[in-house]
Amino acid sequence: MLPHRHRSDLLEKLELQPLPFDNKWTGKIAYLDRDGVLNVGSKSYINDTDEVIILPEAGRCVGELRRAGFRICICTNQSPIDRGWWNHNRLAKIHDYIQDKLLDEDDDALLDLILYSPYHPISNAFARKGNPGMLQAGRQILEAAHKGIELDDSNFTYNHEYSSFDESTSVMVGDRYVDMVAASNHSVHGIQVKGEIGILDAIDEILDNRGNI
Ligand SMILES: [Mg+2]
Repeated sequence: MLPHRHRSDLLEKLELQPLPFDNKWTGKIAYLDRDGVLNVGSKSYINDTDEVIILPEAGRCVGELRRAGFRICICTNQSPIDRGWWNHNRLAKIHDYIQDKLLDEDDDALLDLILYSPYHPISNAFARKGNPGMLQAGRQILEAAHKGIELDDSNFTYNHEYSSFDESTSVMVGDRYVDMVAASNHSVHGIQVKGEIGILDAIDEILDNRGNI
């Protein structure tokens, strides 16, 4: 059970937009959970664009991350799809809306890659956080795009064992324990933020420790 990708097949070639200042990418990824990091979360899920409330300065923070050389990879569990409550198209509209709002705030706040897991918790899908599948996929899709390599079943790694990716300069930000478990399972530094504050709660720590790497 693979992750899904916003408005695209998972392994389709990704056209990366330049980083701010035309900085060269050094491999840093900011893996970001969505609800409680970019927008206010809800126990009953975010079911339509009119339920999206962007957290304070989320756009600026995403812009700051890209100005510091990070590629952004959204990794979000979205089980309402598997539950049959709504479909991929509804989620795509929500993600377009979030992207637009972030860019309204900061021209650099581009979400380079948006991945989501549509699976029900009982599936224990490898793509569902706290498993590391979305992060593994995100790493490979961004690297392949950077190198101009096409990904297919022969060179895309996806398994339960371990991954040997170098995530020493990357970071995962989420508001829940499952995000930290996913980070740990992917061997990337995790920062748990307060859901009512979101990415603003982590931005100084990230930039202080990883901004200049
Ligand atoms: Mg969350």
